[in-house]
Parts: sequence; C-alpha cells; structure tokens
Amino acid sequence: MNEMAEIAERRAQLTSRLTELRKRIERAVSAAHRSQAPELIVVTKFHPASDVLLLAELGVTQVGENRDQEAAAKSAEVRAHGISLYWNFIGQLQSNKAKSVAAYASAVHSIDRPSLVDALAKAVQGTEREALRCFVQLDLAENPGGPRGGAQPADLLPLAERIASAPGLELAGVMAVAPLGEAGRSADPEAAFARLAQLSSTLLREHPEARAISAGMSADLEQAIAYGATHLRVGSDVLGARAAVR
Ligand SMILES: *Cc1c(COP(=O)(O)O)cnc(C)c1O
Repeated sequence: MNEMAEIAERRAQLTSRLTELRKRIERAVSAAHRSQAPELIVVTKFHPASDVLLLAELGVTQVGENRDQEAAAKSAEVRAHGISLYWNFIGQLQSNKAKSVAAYASAVHSIDRPSLVDALAKAVQGTEREALRCFVQLDLAENPGGPRGGAQPADLLPLAERIASAPGLELAGVMAVAPLGEAGRSADPEAAFARLAQLSSTLLREHPEARAISAGMSADLEQAIAYGATHLRVGSDVLGARAAVR
C-alpha cells in the first residue's frame, strides 16, 4: 500500500472508532442521568504524530501522553503542522522533566508529591503561558505504593493547598487509575471511582473551584461516568493496541 492509501485507511479506522466511542460515552452519560458529557482526552502514547494529526482533523481537541521524551517530540511535530492541541501529561513525572513538560502541556494529571508541585511552579515562573492545570493523582490501591502511582488520600488536601497557592499553577481536581487486579485487569473500578468521588467532595469543601475528576479509560469509562468523571482518558479503544503496556 502506498502512503496515501495507508493514511486514508487509518483515517477511516479512527473515524469509525471515534464514532463508536462517542456513542458509548453518550449512552453512559444518559444511563447516569447526567446532563453534561465529560471531556474526552485521547491518549496517543506509543502512536505517531501522524495519528494525532488525523485525530485533530476528526475533531479531537485534547490528547494525553505519559512520557516526556515522546510527548515533547510529538507535540513539536504536530505544532510544526500548524495544529494546536490541548496536551495533557498523564504519566509519572520526574521533577527534572518539569520544565520540558511545562513547555508543551496545558495540564498535568499526575501530581503525586510536593516536590513536583514546586518543580512545576518553578518551570512556569516568568513565562507568559496560561496557568498550568494540575490534578492530584490518588493511589486507590488496597496495598499502597503499587504500579499505578499516586499520592495517598491523606495527602490530598496538603498537596492541593500547595498547588492552589503556587503562582502559575491552577488546581483542577483529582485523578486516579483504577487499581490493577488479576491478570492486569482493573480489580473493582466501581469501588475505586466511588472512593475518588468521595475524595473529590472532600477537596471541594476547601477548594470549590477544583471540580475536575479525571477517571475512566477504555475498559472502565462507563463506571467512571457513573461516578462523576469530568475527564476521560481513552487510548486503546480509539488507537488500537500499543506495542507494550506501561
Ligand atoms: C495509557 C493510559 C490511559 C489510556 O488507557 P487505555 O486503556 O488505552 O484506554 C489512561 N490513563 C493513563 C494514566 C494511562 O497511562
């Protein structure tokens, strides 16, 4: 197949998967009796910039990435085509990458410790950019410190306060990934998202503007929508399987 035909085929595939996904989201929103659909972030990690450009053409406005090196290169390539998108950083982040991430990301969903807040605040200091939207990622696993990452629920309020009082950062809300169970599948997404909704209400009492709940991936977006997710992070359901799971 030549390149033009390949692109046309990929465009058709992404079009139909996005259409299916949007229907799936719509059904879940009405089943949950919600009046507003969550924002859709298409997670493009491990997929090329050419896919991001096709997604933009198909009306996707927000993408998600979890590794700085890959995201920095991809966002630059997309920008070089004159396309501006809302880039969400959703992966574990080392403080020494804060400056790089702040250069292309509009939001970071994976804030899990005070030193990362400080590094991001320093990275945006003196720049002209809009405030960087920050989500506190919570570890909802029964045995804390698992592979999903995140802060312990007891640390939510102090971390939130640190973000809210940092110039250049804006406290968006909370984020979580449902804990892993058997064979790498989500253990019990409903229980995890119910807990996340509770933590969100706790946060709202202190920070009424921090309404966002980033939850729900390909496998569990219905449950996340039922528990009030405002941002879905969906990858494989749109783009297909990734070469490796991280
Ligand atoms: C990869 C990833 C997603 C997307 O997962 P899919 O199962 O491909 O939909 C969502 N959130 C985070 C934090 C991720 O790393």
